[in-house]
Amino acid sequence: MKPHFISKLPDVGTTIFTEMSVLSAKHQSINLGQGFPDFGMDDKLISLTTDAMRQGHNQYTHMNGLLALRQQIANKVNELYHHHINPEDEITVTPGGTYALYTALTTILQPGDEVILFEPAYDSYIPNIEINGAIAVPLSLTFPDYRIDWNLVKSSVNNKTKAIIINSPHNPSGVLLQKEDLVALKEILKDKNIFIISDEVYEHLVFDGQSHLSMLQDPELYARSFVCFSFGKVYHCTGWKMGYCIAPTDLMKEFRKVHQYNCFCCNTPVQYALANFLSNKDHYLQLGSLLQQKRDFFYDQMKNTRFKALPSMGSYFQLYSYEGISKKNEKDFAIELTETYGVTAIPVSAFYKKPVNNKVLRFCFAKKESTLLAAAGRLKKV
Ligand code: PMP
Ligand code: GLN
Repeated sequence: MKPHFISKLPDVGTTIFTEMSVLSAKHQSINLGQGFPDFGMDDKLISLTTDAMRQGHNQYTHMNGLLALRQQIANKVNELYHHHINPEDEITVTPGGTYALYTALTTILQPGDEVILFEPAYDSYIPNIEINGAIAVPLSLTFPDYRIDWNLVKSSVNNKTKAIIINSPHNPSGVLLQKEDLVALKEILKDKNIFIISDEVYEHLVFDGQSHLSMLQDPELYARSFVCFSFGKVYHCTGWKMGYCIAPTDLMKEFRKVHQYNCFCCNTPVQYALANFLSNKDHYLQLGSLLQQKRDFFYDQMKNTRFKALPSMGSYFQLYSYEGISKKNEKDFAIELTETYGVTAIPVSAFYKKPVNNKVLRFCFAKKESTLLAAAGRLKKV
């Protein structure tokens, strides 16, 4: 008999990022879809990694991450968010931010639990919830300013709600949580058995003099949070798949039970290199201005097209409306842009469970100026 199984994710196909990158490669288009830089990473970090390999750091590290790296992360958090975390008990190094989010959800979810999240939502959230037998409760952000409707959150919380996923700076909109959002969040969660999964992978990519508000800054919010980060976004090395999760000791203890039998530990030489490189604060402190310049450069070029920019306050991304340009839905229009005009973007509808068509596409501006210039040149013809 041929063995058979019941799919745990019957509604899931291939992610939009892979789909559009494959289409882009097929048509040799300029890929402003999937979020990754096309410029090089710091050579020093590469040298530190090869040095670590040559020095023989090629065996397993501690399952929770190299302590020297966790110490550097704790120092950074202390400085940026004025929060003393214990590197022994509150930090685990993970193979990327997505893994940290998945592990956090798997740590706390029981079948039938509900998790509130906001759409448009990064595409791993719902499958990560559903694979645990839990129920995703997607709430729409307001359009076109992509803010959280806290009254809607309040009315969606019930005794099955186990967690709420927060993502700021937000992918795909580039919108940032504001102080009043944290006040509302705190008020709603007060006295409730609800965890926060906080996706802060774009913490440094914040523009126009604004600051990133982290769950780590507020003791009451942190007490119920798993805060997830990615080195890929900080050091322009998304393919390294390195990140970490920070959570209070009792939550982290349980997180590590899931982690230890899933990947056990992360890439050793890279951890040695990151531990060394993290002491250079300039790199991550200058990231916001570097990406802001790219956002502004692309924005200026896009003024010569018929696309209309929506505000981006952070992340790698800016949304552009094609209202008045095409009647096609977002996915079909994104395919047309790739096939006919040679530029790839991501349809924002892919970040929703239900069908939506706001006629907006997400463009990744974490690219060389020459790439952005060439892409905008092609988009002028649309
Ligand atoms: N969260 C968001 C919002 C993202 O855009 C990404 C993509 N990098 C991740 C998490 C995952 O990061 P990583 O590549 O480190 O898994
Ligand atoms: N975070 C990236 C994006 O939003 C993609 C990551 C991935 O391809 N899984 O484009």
